[in-house]
Formats: sequence, structure tokens, C-alpha cells
Amino acid sequence: MIQALRGMKDILQPQSERFVHIVETASEIAARYGYDYIETPLLEETALFKRSVGESSDIVGKEMYQFIDKGGNDVCLRPEGTAGIVRAFIQNKLDKRGGIHRFYYHGPMFRYERPQKGRLREFHQFGCESFGESSVYEDFTIILMIKDIFDALGIGYSIKLNSLGCPECMPGYRESLVRHLVDIRDGLCEDCQRRVETNPIRVLDCKNGSCKEALASSPLIVENLCETCDADFRRLTKMLDSHSIPYELDPKLVRGLDYYTRTAFEFVSDEIGAQSAIAGGGRYNRLVEFLGGKPTPAVGFALGIERIMELVKLPEKGRHGIYLGVMEEEALDTILKIAHNKRKSERVFVEYSKRSLKAHLKAADRLGARVCAVIGEEELKDSLVWIKDLETKEERRVGFDQLD
Ligand SMILES: [Zn+2]
Ligand SMILES: [Zn+2]
Repeated sequence: MIQALRGMKDILQPQSERFVHIVETASEIAARYGYDYIETPLLEETALFKRSVGESSDIVGKEMYQFIDKGGNDVCLRPEGTAGIVRAFIQNKLDKRGGIHRFYYHGPMFRYERPQKGRLREFHQFGCESFGESSVYEDFTIILMIKDIFDALGIGYSIKLNSLGCPECMPGYRESLVRHLVDIRDGLCEDCQRRVETNPIRVLDCKNGSCKEALASSPLIVENLCETCDADFRRLTKMLDSHSIPYELDPKLVRGLDYYTRTAFEFVSDEIGAQSAIAGGGRYNRLVEFLGGKPTPAVGFALGIERIMELVKLPEKGRHGIYLGVMEEEALDTILKIAHNKRKSERVFVEYSKRSLKAHLKAADRLGARVCAVIGEEELKDSLVWIKDLETKEERRVGFDQLD
């Protein structure tokens, strides 16, 4: 028997209902915030991710679903959503057109990780990217939108916040960080000893216990921001305060890539293990330029759908829809016409075989239908349908056209 690949999963009821509820809720809210849907290919040139996600990252270094296609192209299944959207933004010349462009997307992402609890090789994300707005109020608005999404889904969270500075203040900070790291080098893990040269900022978010300890006295980015970055960060925290949105400053929240600038944030949940990130994002003012476009400020986020699937509170739906059945075969034609008409407005189940009334009622109950409608011998003669409301238990007979 052929099975799904390792780390890949089918999503069936009741999980699929949660899945659809998340995507629909998030899409609706994003649309209200002025975002348009964008669909980009799952497969892209490998070079796109090498340049955007970065060769030194684990994603590109170890986890890419990369292969040579029949035309000899080096291609890759997307490991994340932002790179493809930035490529599309540039390819469609929106960077040249100017103005503000906001997109939302959802779909599968692929990472060749060692499968473990909560980590899949194919997983799904919902995300938003906003291009052309440099104001920090856009960062604030995106955080507000994510809050609205999680509130609508009934998911608890806390927010972590940091600023990563800009090309003016970041290099100076990096230098002082490297000086500090060289001093404490012996206390760092092997990976971090290497990162001191390749990607020192990344050392800040190492999960290794001894690294965390060694870093306790390291200089902080937020204390080394230039005037503009500092003013922006103050504006952002002031807006969050005035909207009573709690957050926690987290100087270790870094992304380690040059095109990430200023605001970085993470929504974390305690309900799925200790402080798991359920959404993350921030500003990336230099990525469009990095990928060959006209310099364009941008900010965005992505949330992991599988990660929040268990946390979602589904709205109570109760019994709904109508079940239609016959006790005489000649009535099937009528039932199918009624079904077609009812399907314009509600969920309809039809049983094609003639059954006893008892069997129909049982089937309607099992399917969760609100109404069971059956045509028997007598009803067929009188052009009527026998109906029972399975919630109120009320029974009556109505004309074919009076079914409500
Ligand atoms: Zn700055
Ligand atoms: Zn480390």
C-alpha cells in the first residue's frame, strides 16, 4: 500500500474544518485591512531562496526540497512565503509603479526537516506582506490585525517585540557585539563559535543553555538604535500601550539577515509547549532591493496553521442542513428537484435508495441534519413531504414548494 511521504499529512474532518475556519477567518480580516489575495508558484528557482532566506540559514543550508528539473533548472519547493511574493512584486513592476500594495496568501510550505512532534515537512502558513509604506503605524496596524485574527479564533497569546535597527545603526551594534562575543567565545556552543564570523546576530537567539548564560551581559540592539529607529520604536510601543495591547521587549528576538530592519515581533502561545511561536514577522525594508527591485519599504508576517489548529475554538454550529429520503422509488425524481433547489441556500444530504422511515431518521440524525424530509406512498399521492425538525421534534406534512 502506498502511504503519504514522511512528514506529510492528510487533513480530514474534523481537522479540515479547523483548517478552513482559520484560513477563512484570517482572509476575511486581512481583506478588511485592505489586503488583496496573491497566489504565487510553489516551485521557484533555488537562487531566490539562497538570496532572500540566506545561505547561512538552516532553512537553506539543510532543509530545502531542492532538485534539478527535466530542463536542468535548479529549483526548490518554497520553504516560506515572503521570497516568492517579493519576486512577484518586482517581476510585475509594482516597485516601479510606487504606491502601497498589500497582499495576503496562504498555502503549503516545504522543509526537509527530521520529522518530530509538531514539525512537518509540508506545513501551511497564512501571511501578509505590505509594500511601500514606511510609517511605523503600518507595523502597528499589522500587529493589530494579527491580534484581531487570534482573538477571532479564540487563541490566547503574548507578544514579543524588538527593533533590529537600520543600516545606519546596525553595523555599529554588530561590531560591538562581535567584540563581546570574541571575549566570551569559549563559553559558546560550536555553532555559535562559527556564527561569530558568519552571522553574529544569530548568536543572540541560540537555544543552547550555556550560550544563553554567556550572553547575559551582551550589548542590546534597542540600546544602540540611531535617533530615527529609536523614535520609531518608541512610537510603536506607545501605540501598543494606548490600545492596551500587552507586549514584552525581547532583545534576543532577531532574524540575522541584513534586509530585516527595525520592527521584529513574535506571537507566542503557552498552550502548545513552552513559549512556542505561533506567528512572526517584522519589517524588511531592504529585501526588495536585495532581490533586484527598486528600494521599497515592506513589513509582513506569517502564522503557522498546523501550530494553531488545536487551539482554535470552533463556533458552535449545532444541527444544520436537510436530509431528504424516499420510501417509494418513484418519488426520487421529486426529491432530487427539491434537493437542487434547497442547495442554493443550505447543506443538503440525499439518500438515493428507498428506506424505511426509521432508517431515514437514523441516517439524518447521524449526519447532523436539522430536518429530515421523506416522501412515502401517501405523500406521493397527495404531493406532500413529511418533515421532522430533529431539534424541536416537530413533525408535519407540507407541499413540495413549501419546504422551509
Ligand atoms: Zn537606525
Ligand atoms: Zn549557541
